[in-house]
Amino acid sequence: MFQRILLAYDGSEWAKRAALLAGEITRKEKESELWIVCAMGNVASTVGEALAEQWISHQTIEGGKLLDEAEELVGTHVPIHRELMFRPPAESIIEVADTRGIDLIIIGSRGSGALAGLLVGSQSQKVISLAKCPVMVIK
Ligand code: ATP
Ligand code: MG
Repeated sequence: MFQRILLAYDGSEWAKRAALLAGEITRKEKESELWIVCAMGNVASTVGEALAEQWISHQTIEGGKLLDEAEELVGTHVPIHRELMFRPPAESIIEVADTRGIDLIIIGSRGSGALAGLLVGSQSQKVISLAKCPVMVIK
């Protein structure tokens, strides 16, 4: 039913649950592939070139660790594409979904910036509004 699945991963407890579920779904779906998106934000335009380079290499390492963690939670049964993005999260997720022809997005209801009280984080709200495919929101 779903062949090209996107997992949005920020390392939060919701994203971890989403990764486990992505593992279960891809185990059941024949010939599925998984894109894991990890968005590290934009480098501030005000910092100098040297600082920007430092920032990018630091974020690349941190993002790589998050992607490793997500892959481990998903399992090794499915082809995985790692998408480390340097744009805001929802924008990154929608860009990958549109360019890779994604047919299901799996995302947490909350994330690493979780404030008590809010039911759905700002990035998942944006993704739900802008996505052209079904979105599975993990509680
Ligand atoms: P907010 O960021 O609005 O303060 P929050 O952090 O609780 O609140 P979101 O950021 O919307 O909520 O997170 C919801 C889900 O969106 C996460 O569980 C994850 O699946 C996805 N997500 C959030 N940030 C990122 C990111 N940087 N990269 C990839 N996916 C992300
Ligand atoms: Mg957040």
